[in-house]
Parts: sequence; structure tokens; C-alpha cells
Amino acid sequence: NNKIRYKTKIVVIGAGQAGLSAAYHLKKQGLEIGPGFIILDEAPQAGGAWQYRWPSLTLSTVNRIHDLPGMSFEKTIETHEKEVQASVAVPHYYDLYEKQMDIRVYRPVKVEQVYRHEERFYIDSNRTLFSASGIINATGTWENPYIPDYPGAKDFEGEQLHTKDFKTADDFKGKHVIIVGAGISAIQLLDQISRVTTTTWVARRPPEFREGPFDDMAGHNAVAMVEERVRKGLIPLSVVSVTGLPVSAEIIDMRRRGVLQRFPMFSEITGNGVKWADGTEQQADVILWNTGFKSALDHLRPVLPREEAGGILMGGRLATMVIKEPRIHLVGYGPSASTIGANRAGAAAARELMNTLGIVTRSK
Ligand code: FAD
Repeated sequence: NNKIRYKTKIVVIGAGQAGLSAAYHLKKQGLEIGPGFIILDEAPQAGGAWQYRWPSLTLSTVNRIHDLPGMSFEKTIETHEKEVQASVAVPHYYDLYEKQMDIRVYRPVKVEQVYRHEERFYIDSNRTLFSASGIINATGTWENPYIPDYPGAKDFEGEQLHTKDFKTADDFKGKHVIIVGAGISAIQLLDQISRVTTTTWVARRPPEFREGPFDDMAGHNAVAMVEERVRKGLIPLSVVSVTGLPVSAEIIDMRRRGVLQRFPMFSEITGNGVKWADGTEQQADVILWNTGFKSALDHLRPVLPREEAGGILMGGRLATMVIKEPRIHLVGYGPSASTIGANRAGAAAARELMNTLGIVTRSK
């Protein structure tokens, strides 16, 4: 075909927290953008998946956005009000970061497929065919929403939405909404939607509420558990899903309003609602699935060896290295799927991949 071809040493796919951190460390070790490495992203502007988060997700309702290496997030927030939208503040920070660190991101470039030919990787995108000796994949999870399969799903005449589709609670006024899930997004959206309309909250298990603020130790243990899984080639669980939910003022208020009343999972979806195994039915206009995301790795399928358990056998210092194809690193995957984890993973992956490929530079 007549696509432009571009040859480099390392391609970083994705410019969210994980990709930008990797790019920073590749540069720091003396690799130049262009001949040394390139970073590309399918989104139209800086911000990783943060640019798509719903408007009511503010800096006071996210857990915490960790700094990228070498630049403070706090100092780039233009107002000291608490209600700053994450979808504005984080993209603004990443944009300034790219400029300050002189990290030129090729965008919008969507990687469609990666394949191998004679020991080189070919990274085929909508615009250019890149070739490289190594890959740092940082494509996150936003592109891969997960909705479990329930009988009857196709017959439902209302709307089925995923967290990813949520914009504002006002869209649901006058509708009955079934909210599925027990993670942080499920609870936050249940809170907002239940203020404007009637809701039914459904989850397999109750969330683990924890009194007091976010606990570093619990976070640490959760990450260790996910790391142990990927080092065995198992599918990672979401780091956020295992850290528990701090009991906030909003949760206390939801308890008082009586909306935090969990029903077990239904067994089927009907034309106009859902039905439990005991025959009870609930009519609904909307089913909102807050059932999480999976890693967006489809483009790597031809070059990423999968284990029988469905996961990828990971190794290296922070479990970013694909053991059976060490020229590929996955950052923001498994234990590094948080802003702090992504940051550290970027550093480890940059160093290890350069070692694996035998790239020697004069470090800056
Ligand atoms: P992303 O930010 O998703 O970046 C991936 C990038 O890859 C995107 O820019 C995308 O355009 C690009 N991309 C994807 N596929 C392709 C392709 N095929 N070709 C080219 N480009 C591609 N973490 C925290 O630490 N604190 C929090 O408070 C927090 N809150 C969260 C709230 C929500 C609602 C969600 C969903 C997640 C939250 N997280 C939080 C997790 C956190 O957002 C991520 O783990 C973290 O930002 C790491 O990002 P990343 O770089 O791996 O991915």
C-alpha cells in the first residue's frame, strides 16, 4: 500500500500517564524523538483517557492524580476551587507537560495492528506504517469497556449504557435506571443519578466500604495482589476494584436517602427490565453497566503470546515485560493501572527495553 513508512527503534503506543512517563525516561536515557523513538496516540488532543471522563468527575471525586516525572500537577491547576473537572485539568497538565519536556506526540494516529516480520515489528496505523525493534504499549483500558453477558440482553427495548457513555445525571430524568456494579464509578453514578430519578442498584457483591480515608497499605496490598497474578500469566483484576471504597459524605447521604440498597445480580434481561431467579421483575428504561474495562490490547494480538489462563506472562522489575516477547513492554497494565503505577512502570519499561535491545546512548 502507499502509506508513509517510518523506521525507528522504539514505538510507544498511547500518550496517557503511562506512555508519557515512558517517553520521558526514554528521552532521559538519551534516545531522541524520531530516530530513537516515537510516541503516538489516537486521541485528538493531550490528556489520555482523562479527556473523555464525565464532567461531574472532579478533582475532589477522583482518588488522586499522581505527578508525571519531573513536573508538579498541583502547580498547573488554574483555580484552587475543589470542583475542577478532571477532564479539563488533567489534559491541560499533560499538554503543558508535553511542551515542557519537548515530547512531540504524533496524533491522531490509531494503531490498528502490530505484526512481526524478520525480527522487526510493524506498527500499522491509519496514517503511517511504523517499524521498530521494540514496543512500549500504553493504551490503557478506556477503549475496551466490559459488559457481562446476560440472557435476553438483545431483547431489551430500553437503553443499555456503560460508564464510558455517562455524561450527566440529567440525561436520566424521568427514567428508571438500573445501575450495575460495586466499584467506585458505580457508586458515584448511583449517587448522582439517584438525586434526579428512581434507581435500582444491582451488584454481585457489596463493595468493601472502608471507614476513614484512602489507606496506603490497602492500596499497596491490592497492587501486590494484581502483580502476583500477572507474574503467573493470569488476567489482572482492576487495581481500583480491590482497594475498597472510603465512606465519604456522599455515601453517608446515600444511606440516609435509602438508595444504597443492593440487590443481587438478576438472572436475565427482559424486553422492559430485568428478572431475578425467584421470578421478581423490575421494569427499567436504562441499564447502566459500571462493570469496568479490560486492557485495550487487540492491536497486539498477532505478537502477544497468551497463556492458557487467558492472561499474559509478565516479568521484569515491575512486571511490565512480556516474558515470551521481551521486546514488548506493557505499561499501565495490571499492577501499573493507576497514575502512580503508570509513572513507575514507564521508568522500568524504558530502562529494561533499552537493555534488551542493546541500545547504548550517552545518558543525559
Ligand atoms: P490512558 O489514560 O487510558 O491512555 C491511553 C492512551 O492510549 C489514550 O490516550 C488512547 O487514546 C491511546 N490509545 C488507545 N488505544 C490506541 C491505539 N490503538 N492506537 C493509538 N492510541 C491508542 N487512577 C488514579 O491513579 N487516580 C484516580 O483518581 C483515578 N481515577 C479514575 C477514574 C476513572 C473513571 C477511571 C476509568 C480510571 C481512573 N484511574 C485513576 C485509573 C487511571 O486513569 C489510569 O490507570 C491511568 O491514568 C493510567 O493511564 P494510561 O496511560 O495507562 O491510560
